[in-house]
Amino acid sequence: MRIALVAHNQKKDDMVALAIEFAPLLRQHTLMATGTTGGRLQDEAGLTVERLLSGPLGGDLQIGARLSMGEVDTLIFLRDPMTAQPHEPDINALVRACDVHNVPCATNMATARMLLEDLSRR
Ligand code: PGA
Repeated sequence: MRIALVAHNQKKDDMVALAIEFAPLLRQHTLMATGTTGGRLQDEAGLTVERLLSGPLGGDLQIGARLSMGEVDTLIFLRDPMTAQPHEPDINALVRACDVHNVPCATNMATARMLLEDLSRR
């Protein structure tokens, strides 16, 4: 599966913790991430990740475009609901693309864990 990973700044520690917890599973899949998230996943979780642009520079849109073309199978997008983001329209576009194309999208840790646990049973 092609898994996209995005975490806002306040959620990056959570993303790294999740990635470390599920590293054996994630290593079996193709990973892509927005720039800063991807860097931390490489450095701190030891994962091989294709790094796209940083979110505020268009990374969410890149993932959304790939997803719309059928090139992303699931998205873990740990959003920060407490902080205004300069690229809010891009964030909404990415989540909308998931709904348009019926791609699983986890936007918090609880759902992300359920999604990854489900994947690990397949
Ligand atoms: P980042 O982008 O991983 O480059 O920080 C995430 C985002 O803010 O959407």
